[in-house]
Amino acid sequence: MPWPVLDDEEVVRLTRNEVERQNTALQLIASENFASPAVLDATGSVFTNKYSEGYPGRRYYGGNQVVDEVEELARQRVCALFGADHANVQPHSGANANMAVYQALLEPGDTVLGLSLDHGGHLTHGSPVNASGLMYNFVGYRVTASDERIDMDEVMSLAQQHKPKLIVAGATAYPRMIDPAPYRKVADEVGALLMFDAAHIAGLIAGGVHPNPMDVVDIMTFTTHKTLRGPRGGCILTTSEHAAAIDKAVFPGQQGGPQEHAIAAKAVAFAEANTDEFKQYSAQIVANAAALAEVLGQEGFRLVSGGTDNHLMLLDLRTFDEELTGKEAQIVLDEAGITLNRNSIPDDPRSPFVTSGLRIGTPAVTTQGMAEPEMAEIGRLLAKCLRSRDDAAAVAGVREEVRTLCAPFAPYPDL
Ligand SMILES: *Cc1c(COP(=O)(O)O)cnc(C)c1O
Repeated sequence: MPWPVLDDEEVVRLTRNEVERQNTALQLIASENFASPAVLDATGSVFTNKYSEGYPGRRYYGGNQVVDEVEELARQRVCALFGADHANVQPHSGANANMAVYQALLEPGDTVLGLSLDHGGHLTHGSPVNASGLMYNFVGYRVTASDERIDMDEVMSLAQQHKPKLIVAGATAYPRMIDPAPYRKVADEVGALLMFDAAHIAGLIAGGVHPNPMDVVDIMTFTTHKTLRGPRGGCILTTSEHAAAIDKAVFPGQQGGPQEHAIAAKAVAFAEANTDEFKQYSAQIVANAAALAEVLGQEGFRLVSGGTDNHLMLLDLRTFDEELTGKEAQIVLDEAGITLNRNSIPDDPRSPFVTSGLRIGTPAVTTQGMAEPEMAEIGRLLAKCLRSRDDAAAVAGVREEVRTLCAPFAPYPDL
C-alpha cells in the first residue's frame, strides 16, 4: 500500500526553518550541540521500526538478530571509551538513566546526597517537583560563599550527619572541573555508593580533558547529546557488581521497548568520540569557553567562581547592569540570534523564573569550527545587544552581525 501522505509540506517547511535557524544563529545553550550527519542518518534509520524489549541475546520478540548486533556494538564501544565493565545504552534520556540508577540501588525514602539545584544541581538530583525528590530523601550540598566551588568539607559533614546510601556527584550549571576522587573518600568514609552524573561533561571526559569518573565511582550516568555530540539519549556505565540490578531497573523497571534507532546513533557517536579529532574538539571547547569568559569579564560581567575550566560559564548580570534580569537578557539576545538560557547564580536574590544570571556554553559553536577570534566577537556582540536592549534597530543590527559571523561556519550547509 502507498504511504498515505507523500510529502508533508508543513513538517518539511518547519524542518527547513529549523535548519535555517541553526545555520544562521549562535547556539550557546551549554547542553546543546550539533550531531554529525552520520549520527542524524542512524537516528533516522529503520531501526525505529523494531520492538526489542530485553537485552542482546535475551529479547521478548523475534527478529532481533541485527538489533542485537547494533546494541552490542554500542555497549562495547562505550565500555572501551570510558573503561567500564558494563554499559546500559537503553535510557531514553539522562533523567531516565538517573531514575533507573536510583531504582536499582535504593529503596523509596532512602537518603541521597546531591548538589543543590540552586547551586548547579539537576532536577533529577532531588527537586521536590521531580520523581527523584518525591521518592527519595535528597540532602543538598552547596558551593562555598567565598570561591563558589563545591564545598567538599560540607559534603563530608553532611555525609557523616545523614549517612546517605548514595552520593551523587555532577552538575548542570557548574563552571569548574569536578574531581571524582574526593567524593570516593567521603563515600568510603560513610559506606555510601557513589554515582557521577556526567550528563554535561561526558564529551570532555571522553576527549581526555576532564578526569574519568569510572576510575573511582560505582556508577556513571550521562546524556549522549550534550558535549558527547550524539543523538538525544542517556547511558549508564557500571562496575560488574551492579550490572544486573541496573539492567533490571532500566527494563522492565523504568522503560518499555528501547529506541534502537537512537542506540544505533549512540554507537556512531561513541566511535566518533574515540578519535584524535574528538580529543582536539574537547580541548577546543574548553579553550573557547576560557576565551569567551575572559572577553565577557572585560565587558563588565562577573563570572561565577571567577571563570571556567569546562565548556560553560555562569554570568552574574548585576555587575554589568543592576536592573537587568536573566529573563530579560535571554529574550533580547534570542531576538539578536544569540540563543542561551537564564540561570540562577548561587544565592540568587531573584526567583528561578527570573534569575540574575545567564549560562553560556561553547560545545555547539566549537563543533561549527569557531575558535578564539570568534569567541571575542561573540562576547562583543552579546554585550552590545544587552547595552542597547531598548533600541530595536540596534538589536536588529546585532542580528545581522550574528548572521555574518555564522555564515562561514554553518553546521549543516547542505541540509
Ligand atoms: C541534562 C542533564 C540531565 C538530564 O538529561 P535529559 O536527557 O534532559 O533528561 C541529567 N543530569 C544532568 C546533570 C544534566 O545536566
